[in-house]
Amino acid sequence: MTTKNIIILTGAGISAESGIKTFRDAGGLWEDHPVEQVATPEGYAADPALVQRFYNLRRAALKDVKPNAAHIALATLQSEMIARGGDVMIVTQNVDDLHARGGAQNVVHMHGELKRVFCTACDHHMDCDDDISVETTCPACKTIGTTRPDIVWFGEIPYHMDAIERAIKTCDLFVSIGTSGAVYPAAGFVQIASHYGAKTLELNLEPSQGSYHFDETRLGKAGSIVPAWVEEILA
Ligand code: NAD
Repeated sequence: MTTKNIIILTGAGISAESGIKTFRDAGGLWEDHPVEQVATPEGYAADPALVQRFYNLRRAALKDVKPNAAHIALATLQSEMIARGGDVMIVTQNVDDLHARGGAQNVVHMHGELKRVFCTACDHHMDCDDDISVETTCPACKTIGTTRPDIVWFGEIPYHMDAIERAIKTCDLFVSIGTSGAVYPAAGFVQIASHYGAKTLELNLEPSQGSYHFDETRLGKAGSIVPAWVEEILA
């Protein structure tokens, strides 16, 4: 069977060689902070100023990083497959913008984006390139102090789940890249894909927690193994 519809799920590992730290590798800390402090609604309620500062720094740091060979190879795969009548949906758990800057189209950010914020009073979502603080005024409802990072924290519902699950059920190849397989629901996508008849492939530095669910696992750095795999698919 020729591969026509591919779903790619990416995680922090694909951006590691661009200089953005992953999560699990650092022992459950995110840039030296416990996950509960900076990636839960409870952490935000306890100290909104600290959490806003944390994401302000992550957002500002995007200016110092560039997409790597893996991001660029996936963008090439996407445009080539579309030109050949197929489709490639890139679903990322990452909150950085490196897929888009590598040339990918319509990236699905299931865990939100560093360069987006929203107002908890009126639910107005907006692009954001600068810092926010507990003094920021929502441009839509004018409330002060209700603007938070548009990041899906632990305990919150990921974005675009209906569209992602629909696409997974009809793809013929599901590929997971640079993710530890520890965070659900993304960690369960491979089982849905398999159940509906797709082939499944994992590209990661080490076997993920759900590695045994994949038909094939290739180990190595994303910057090397992703371009090699893309070349193979397009050959
Ligand atoms: P994770 O940190 O839990 O796991 C990263 C995985 O990538 C590990 O299995 C590791 O072995 C692998 N890896 C590390 N370096 C690699 C490389 N060079 N090539 C290939 N694989 C490599 O990441 P996760 O599974 O995405 O889950 C963490 C959560 O944290 C995500 O939901 C995400 O929102 C958030 N996060 C995002 C970023 C980002 O946007 N870049 C960074 C850190 C954390």
